[in-house]
Amino acid sequence: MTNFPIFLKLENRPCLVVGGGRVAARKIKQLLKANATVTVIAPKISSLLNKFVEEKKITFLEKSYERTDIAFMELVIAATNDREVNNKIAEHAKSKKIMINVVDNPDAGTFIMPSVIDRSPVMVAVSTGGASPILTRLLRARLEILIPANYGKLASLVSRFRETIKGKFPSIKERRRFWEQILQGPIAELLYTGQDKKALKLLEKKITNECSITQPEGEVYLVGGGPGDPDLLTFRALRLMQQADIVLYDRLVAPDIVNLVRKDAERIYVGKERDKHTVPQEEINQLLVELAKKGKRVLRLKGGDPFIFGRGGEEIDLLSENNIPFQIVPGITAASGCASYAGIPLTHRKYAQSCLFITGHLKDGTMNLNWSALVQPQQTLAVYMGTHGIEILSRELIKHGLAKTTPAAIVQQGTTKIQKTYITTVKDLPNIPKQNEIKPPSMIIIGDVVSLHEKLAWFGQPD
Ligand code: SAH
Repeated sequence: MTNFPIFLKLENRPCLVVGGGRVAARKIKQLLKANATVTVIAPKISSLLNKFVEEKKITFLEKSYERTDIAFMELVIAATNDREVNNKIAEHAKSKKIMINVVDNPDAGTFIMPSVIDRSPVMVAVSTGGASPILTRLLRARLEILIPANYGKLASLVSRFRETIKGKFPSIKERRRFWEQILQGPIAELLYTGQDKKALKLLEKKITNECSITQPEGEVYLVGGGPGDPDLLTFRALRLMQQADIVLYDRLVAPDIVNLVRKDAERIYVGKERDKHTVPQEEINQLLVELAKKGKRVLRLKGGDPFIFGRGGEEIDLLSENNIPFQIVPGITAASGCASYAGIPLTHRKYAQSCLFITGHLKDGTMNLNWSALVQPQQTLAVYMGTHGIEILSRELIKHGLAKTTPAAIVQQGTTKIQKTYITTVKDLPNIPKQNEIKPPSMIIIGDVVSLHEKLAWFGQPD
């Protein structure tokens, strides 16, 4: 270990920054966050620092650095753009055993500043010991994704109730079990989603024994897994996928996405193939309730967005009736995933001012749609579940006035490595499945915007 990691308490401690430019300002901002008493020495300072002076946040000495300036300082940062001056400051500070950081020259000082993920009071510091600032940045970005934005709130809550819990559970083992439950269950999730009061109430209930401590609290995460490409998952979706005890998923969720669920989580396939629902919808709804009541963290993973032709509303209805905590995580819906990956903007100033998401699902062999509303100028139609009724779709749209030559696309298995796009006209749409084997899932997009595909296609194109 070349550098020893510590966190310094700098509240009201005298710190000096030499230099008044951009880099100095960055360091000063960090020192101010730690409530340090900051003096800055420079012949002139930036407008931001001037503002800090006016707001009396820092003391500014308008002069060049001199040896005596460091006399009563506990920590010094040399941030001038003159390497020699910086090194001189470092020598002086070292001779007086004052902690010194030299910007852009970590070896010259006695400490370096890490890259920080601030979820106060939780702090994560990352350093590559000066080896690679880019690597530090990349690592930091990864950690930012893993640690929910409201993580600090959780830490504050724990700290607030620590003594109470100590009094309640004398044994360390019991205490640990209690906190593990709190930190990974509904209370934490309520805090992450900004429902602080509810979280506090639930914690108080747990403490006063109003609800069982040995029995963990179950909950349901209704998560949109997007159209296929795992990179399109949200941070929250991924976090919940890694946390759930059990997952219920259907056919539309790509295997690459199911693979991202925690390895030891139990998996239940609930089917949902066209016309043969492996598990009927009512049973799925009931199963979610039962599993959550057993104390499981249940992930209901759906393709695309759970609230767009996903029956997400029905599934949470029963949860709400049974007072089971749940949260809904949106996903990228097939229409926008397919459109983006096929280079077809759903709206465009020149071609389309509106876009309708419709279902072409056949009920009793027909499609019950408001055809005249669909046939409007400058409008894009994104048709879900439309391949089986493609003849009716083409025929009715034309019958209600849509130009036969209106461009149309079928995007098959959109956003996956095997995405395929067929471009045609609304009149010739039915010929595509006749001449090709169209594999589910497929999305039909109709409207003048489809003509942009030729120019804007980018994904999965031959080199
Ligand atoms: N909730 C989902 C839609 C469920 S309905 C969402 O928001 O995307 C199922 C229909 O979505 C399929 O019949 C198909 O029309 C469309 N679909 C879903 N994923 C798709 C994909 N990767 N490529 C093309 N169409 C897709």
